[in-house]
Amino acid sequence: MSAPSPNKIPVHDMDATKKRIHPRFTDGFYQRIRLFSMYFLLALFLILPWIKYDGRQAIWFDVPSQHYYIFGMTLFPQDFFFVAAGFIIAAFMLFMVTVYAGRVWCGYACPQTIWTHLFQHVEKWVIGDRNKRIKFDKEPNSASKIAKKLLIYFIWFVMSVFTATTFVSYVAGTSLMYSSWQSIAGIPFPDWPTWVWVSMFIFTFATYANAAYMREFMCVYICPYGRFQSVMFDKDTLIVSYDYNRGEPRGPRKKGTNPEELGDCIDCTMCVQVCPTGIDIRDGLQVECIQCAACVDACNEVMDKVGYPRGLIRYTTERQLVENEQSRYLRPRLFAYLLLLSVLIGVVAYALFDRVPLQIDVRGDRNQLSSMNAEGQIVNSYIIKVTNKTQAAHEYVLSITAPEGFTLKTRFESIPLNAGESYDMPVSVAADPKFIEQNEVPVTFNVDSKDGTYHASRTNVFTSQTK
Ligand code: SF4
Ligand code: SF4
Repeated sequence: MSAPSPNKIPVHDMDATKKRIHPRFTDGFYQRIRLFSMYFLLALFLILPWIKYDGRQAIWFDVPSQHYYIFGMTLFPQDFFFVAAGFIIAAFMLFMVTVYAGRVWCGYACPQTIWTHLFQHVEKWVIGDRNKRIKFDKEPNSASKIAKKLLIYFIWFVMSVFTATTFVSYVAGTSLMYSSWQSIAGIPFPDWPTWVWVSMFIFTFATYANAAYMREFMCVYICPYGRFQSVMFDKDTLIVSYDYNRGEPRGPRKKGTNPEELGDCIDCTMCVQVCPTGIDIRDGLQVECIQCAACVDACNEVMDKVGYPRGLIRYTTERQLVENEQSRYLRPRLFAYLLLLSVLIGVVAYALFDRVPLQIDVRGDRNQLSSMNAEGQIVNSYIIKVTNKTQAAHEYVLSITAPEGFTLKTRFESIPLNAGESYDMPVSVAADPKFIEQNEVPVTFNVDSKDGTYHASRTNVFTSQTK
């Protein structure tokens, strides 16, 4: 492959013919940050479903009953706005971080990276470091090789099942996932409904396939983020880059070579060996690069050994590296994202705090517009649906706001509702014809909790027309 031009950072495409990659594990400043970030997020994923709030799983997307609990808040399908807004905010945050720090998400936080890293560690633990793993791949099958492979597959499978169980716990609940057992022929077996078994199968398969086989192919071919990242990059985006001007011409320091004629790269290929996607960063910015900075740490270690300054491969920007100018960290694009994000977060936070955890829906009786009762009053019938969106039981009272002479007729004085419960109550509104001044009169239905904490209302129409 020809060397990249020193005048610009070349962007290469992926090579689909690559063999299985066995990266060498390295240590260093960025790897320690990376490990901390990855294990912190992993621990969060595993621990969160076990946290209780008010005696219930704190984060529980209870799809079968359509109740979504996030600590003290209960969301319903009608609150889909908050879920959509959450995704939009997360997407804008990712865009903003990408403009500033490149693919930091890919290298430090993406589940694909974390699980691939864990699965590769299993291979390292069973077989050994990079050279042993490459040799192992080439060896003919033997009893010991098959035993090691089976052990790896078994550990991967257990990890995949555990991942799927945790994932499904967010929906099915930890109590169902871990405490529901039945005995089949004397063997304890999880007593899960069919949809849980299907979800378990899908997530176990997806985890195993992604982390064991797909690995970097997922990032390169399937994940759209890797593909459109270059659109978000500008000259001031932080990227892991090789300093071509300083490193070239590369070459080992053999006896008889004049170091003055060579650049700082000793061509040890350590940066390639540690790369989890198997690329050579010296060929320029490539779509496979997940910006994990393993090559930065590896090269810094080499530079320390040979007595050259660190930073031959480093986090830098195109402006700094190619144009030799100071990077502009505070730039209009970043402020635009920040402003947009602040507005979005502000609107959603306001909507969340202003949200009344009580809902009333009013439907007119479709079978009958209006009728006349025995007292000669015109009567309209409605179905009132009251939903208690709090996490405690409440009693609610119905009333109407309407012109003089309109009365509400209900079967019950109050409606007791448990947390998250809904009730459809048929009611009617009656009015003496002498009080009805127009064909359609707006009537507001109010629902109040008996303790006076919550109030909601909805307006519908009272009509004096019959069919
Ligand atoms: S680790 Fe550094 S010195 Fe070694 S090949 Fe890579 S860039 Fe050159
Ligand atoms: S080139 Fe460097 S930063 Fe990019 S994926 Fe490979 S090791 Fe990580």
